Amino acid sequence: MDIRKVMVVGAGLMGSGIAQVCAQAGIDVFLNDAAAEALDKAIKNIEWSVGKFIEKGKLTEDKNTIIGRISPIKDLEKGKDVDLVIEAVFEQLELKQEIFEKLDRLCAAQTLLASNTSAIPISDLAAVTHRANQVLGLHFFSPVPMMPVVEVIKGISTTDETASAGRDFVQKIGKEAIMVNRDVPGFAINRINFPSTIEAMNLVEQGVVSIEDVDKGLRLGLGRKMGIFETGDMVGLDVTYGALMAMYNETGDSRWYPPLLLRRKVKAGHLGRKTGKGWYQYDKEGNLLKD
Ligand code: NAD
Repeated sequence: MDIRKVMVVGAGLMGSGIAQVCAQAGIDVFLNDAAAEALDKAIKNIEWSVGKFIEKGKLTEDKNTIIGRISPIKDLEKGKDVDLVIEAVFEQLELKQEIFEKLDRLCAAQTLLASNTSAIPISDLAAVTHRANQVLGLHFFSPVPMMPVVEVIKGISTTDETASAGRDFVQKIGKEAIMVNRDVPGFAINRINFPSTIEAMNLVEQGVVSIEDVDKGLRLGLGRKMGIFETGDMVGLDVTYGALMAMYNETGDSRWYPPLLLRRKVKAGHLGRKTGKGWYQYDKEGNLLKD
């Protein structure tokens, strides 16, 4: 199945990035969000990011052609004829299920439905549709325009054809695919990464090491591009919290329960770059404030 038209539901950090990489690959995209201001912000961010790629010589098409492929829409019905829908709304099971139910009713019979969820089981989203065989996970990494890999996840009913179509789509937008053959909580990469994230938060909470020194150590000692807390602020503390809670609820295993410090920060609204405060503090333009 050749994916030529895509609808992205949720135009936040991830949805806007996904719409951008589709448009850059020549794919027409409907970009939907429940909040009009989120759509405006998404288009502004995409324009800025595409401009940067053009400046650096990484894109040869002109900006208007790329942006022209993205149609912001407030109404899901407009996207009923697309080949693939990628859902990227808040990490909440009930909200995602409501959207999958709606999409199943609205979309053409052959349309594939994907979720960018960090940790909600794909099978739980497929279960509310009548096309569970055509539902898959496409888990992008942040920032989407920069990160060259996507996990392609099979739910319990996802067919090999659907997973292959997902892999071909990932390659079409210029990224590498990681095939995740079973719908386990956290999929593959978060499942590997979260134990160290939780341990880092616990060590900071116990006063063993500072946030800055953890990140310094991971960058300089382990060769990571960004430290755990720098990444956490970009991803959003609420997103990490939501993913850990989903894994905890699914497994009942206390090792995934979000650490106290993370729970307190989320309650306080310290969600990372988007709120100006998370593990670090930022000015209005999102630049890191140094002490
Ligand atoms: P975000 O908060 O930046 O954006 C979510 C968007 O969804 C908002 O613009 C919101 O207005 C919109 N929305 C909410 N309800 C809606 C509805 N009913 N219809 C349409 N739009 C609606 O969140 P994000 O960081 O982009 O994360 C989105 C999803 O991607 C989550 O499931 C998250 O777990 C997953 N994810 C996030 C990251 C990350 O680094 N942030 C990485 C991988 C996966």
